[in-house]
Amino acid sequence: MTTRIALDGNRLMADARDLLADTIRLRRRIHAEPELGNHLPMTQAKILDALSGLDLEIRTGDAVSSVVATLIGDGAGPTLVLRGDMDALPMPEDTGEKFASSHTGVMHACGHDAHVAMLAGAARLLHARRRELRGSVKFLFQPGEEGHHGARYCIEEGLLENPKVDAAFALHVFPNLQSGSIQTRPGPMLASSDEFTITVRGRGGHASAPYMAVDPIPVACEMVTALQTHITRTVNVFKPAVLTVGRIIAGTTTNVIPESAELTGTVRTVDAETREQVLGSIEQVVQGIAGAHGCRVDVELDYGYPVTVNDAGFTDFSVGVLTDVLGADRVSLMPAPIMGSEDWSYVLERVPGLMAFLGVCPDGVEPNQAHACHSNLMRIDEDAMAVGIAAHAALALSYLA
Ligand SMILES: [Zn+2]
Ligand SMILES: [Zn+2]
Repeated sequence: MTTRIALDGNRLMADARDLLADTIRLRRRIHAEPELGNHLPMTQAKILDALSGLDLEIRTGDAVSSVVATLIGDGAGPTLVLRGDMDALPMPEDTGEKFASSHTGVMHACGHDAHVAMLAGAARLLHARRRELRGSVKFLFQPGEEGHHGARYCIEEGLLENPKVDAAFALHVFPNLQSGSIQTRPGPMLASSDEFTITVRGRGGHASAPYMAVDPIPVACEMVTALQTHITRTVNVFKPAVLTVGRIIAGTTTNVIPESAELTGTVRTVDAETREQVLGSIEQVVQGIAGAHGCRVDVELDYGYPVTVNDAGFTDFSVGVLTDVLGADRVSLMPAPIMGSEDWSYVLERVPGLMAFLGVCPDGVEPNQAHACHSNLMRIDEDAMAVGIAAHAALALSYLA
């Protein structure tokens, strides 16, 4: 791992603060016109506009509206990718902000507007200091994080090649964390997230004569409890695993036994082995119960994002750099992973790297009271974006020193 050079943290923060007004303007413009999924032409246009005038090699995506902007430093060296995701969520916004969403039913409630703006700021800062870089920085503006596998498409379109990427860093805003502070951890940071659909098929009939039918409803209910029991009895207690049945659909009225019942839910784990174990056990458990009651059952698994795993060496290096620049009171390690998920995991499966949280708790609000990511009331302290710009730039300047 690279040895750390001494960076002038005060100078870096001052440079980042100089970019803050433009960064806030860009963030608000993106916030006002949020877009969903992998096709985000308006957001892409704003990014290209923000990068104009900089000497960057720019590639836009084919399958997705990504922007990969490469800054080639003065000397030869490794390549670091820095990422900002671009997409919003299909939900209404109720923040009352002046720059609130003008697109009905779409909101930047995960802070990806801030991620884009901070990354554009970091590109500008690092461009001004490109003589200090030995190697290249790829700025990845990535669509489709919210369940659309955007990062995977970017990898398929060559993100990690030409030049070959050696390390990767992404920052995610977090309203429930003191503004301007950074948290991360080595190893698993976020969970895998997979979905399942279980369809139980019996034989319909009259509710007064269940013995003449095969009622799928009690069988489905038994599956819910059996799946919970199976997990607590078979998964190592030190390996977190969550299985939640979030929806049950069955029946139409009080006096009819329906033909089928459907269960859908999610599985979260923080290591690949437990992930396979839990997903594999669903079929085994529900087949056994269906068989006991004369039902048939189909299981459909929808594989979502893998576990987000931070490389221990790169985490160590980054925490050192960020502590030097921001101060020890602003950088801390999380005691445990959280069970949310991220498609940055696809990149971290292939390249050693890191994801970290940036505290953006609004002024005058206790962090544990702040409206979280994915809330219709989610707000951020925009001043913290200066810390985000400095964090991106510090890692690049140190890694490519
Ligand atoms: Zn999100
Ligand atoms: Zn997010």
